[in-house]
Amino acid sequence: MNSGYLHLSGPLADELIDAAGLRDIRNKVDRGERLDFADGVRLTECRALAAVGLLAHRVRTARHGRRTYYNINQHVNYTNICKYSCKFCAFAAKEGEPRAYLMTGEDVERKVREKLDQPITEVHMVAGIHPTMGYDYYLDVVRGAKRGRPDIHVKAFTMVEIEHMLAISGKSEAEVFADLREAGLGSCPGGGAEVLVDRVHRAVFRDKMGPDRWLATARKVQQNGFKMNATMLYGHIERPEERIEHLIKLRDLQDECGNFMAFIPLAFWPYHTDLENYGHVTTGHLDLRMIAISRLMLDNFDHIKAYWIMLTPSSAQTALAFGANDIDGTVTEEKITHDAGTTAPEVMSVADLHHLIREAGFVPIRRTTTYQDIEVFEDATAGA
Ligand code: SF4
Repeated sequence: MNSGYLHLSGPLADELIDAAGLRDIRNKVDRGERLDFADGVRLTECRALAAVGLLAHRVRTARHGRRTYYNINQHVNYTNICKYSCKFCAFAAKEGEPRAYLMTGEDVERKVREKLDQPITEVHMVAGIHPTMGYDYYLDVVRGAKRGRPDIHVKAFTMVEIEHMLAISGKSEAEVFADLREAGLGSCPGGGAEVLVDRVHRAVFRDKMGPDRWLATARKVQQNGFKMNATMLYGHIERPEERIEHLIKLRDLQDECGNFMAFIPLAFWPYHTDLENYGHVTTGHLDLRMIAISRLMLDNFDHIKAYWIMLTPSSAQTALAFGANDIDGTVTEEKITHDAGTTAPEVMSVADLHHLIREAGFVPIRRTTTYQDIEVFEDATAGA
């Protein structure tokens, strides 16, 4: 592989970035200086996608070279019954609706056992906030996954679920996290933040926790020794500068606690939601800018993930050249974004993940949930 591809540096690349009016930001990036709010807003306003992408790709390759991560994982959305009514959500149902479902710990165990023939290392579990199920229910679903596959890493619960458990448990914060650890929780996926801005919270998810409570709960998770990811649901009513506000709030919390692993920009799919007639499906241009800007702003996050379920496989592949260094995993079965109309498939084979990564010029690395290498596929014929 041509090393020029790796760094995309030199006078021509600099000229392109400078022509987009980003010379000062390029200088900051090259010096390893942190970008500020105004820099972020300018990047969001810049439509010279190649220039923004080049900058992000420099940061990505300086950190990771051509290494691109994926994992072999399984999603289990253990209930869609939810007491909240977020306007962007097509997944939630109320008790008694025909599409409402609730899995027990035994159901989760069965679901995980169904895939024992596959080398899955992680189960990702998030769900609605059931109005009446007690604290033990949450421990049961974690235990169910561990019974089904004792060596699996359980990555479960948005900050909304964690806050709910803390509220209903009747126990101290330390006791709840000790219970979750004992049950088998390994880490948290970090969803539920949506956009960490009060205006957006009031407008589209006012009954659910807002920015301050999400950040406070994420702080508790990390201070109690769990690693987690962070997300942002973009492409609905949020303004460009609000996306930057969100990123800076996460960056500040990472400075404080340091246990965020990856940031995952989530492209909004509007179908069957209360925002269906409000706007558009996100565009390829916005998706790639969001990946690139996230890479540039989040200088203290190791990993930026292009989640192919929401981006679609082709955009996720392209995002690898715009700052992303992770493409998520095989997923196996996904409900939340499919209820909202994503055109992505529900499962991706390892061969297809390798093809996407290699075809874009990168090296597939099969990883654990916490980003340890399981296997590096340097050889273009291995595992493909
Ligand atoms: S986004 Fe989560 S909390 Fe909001 S309605 Fe959907 S399942 Fe419930």
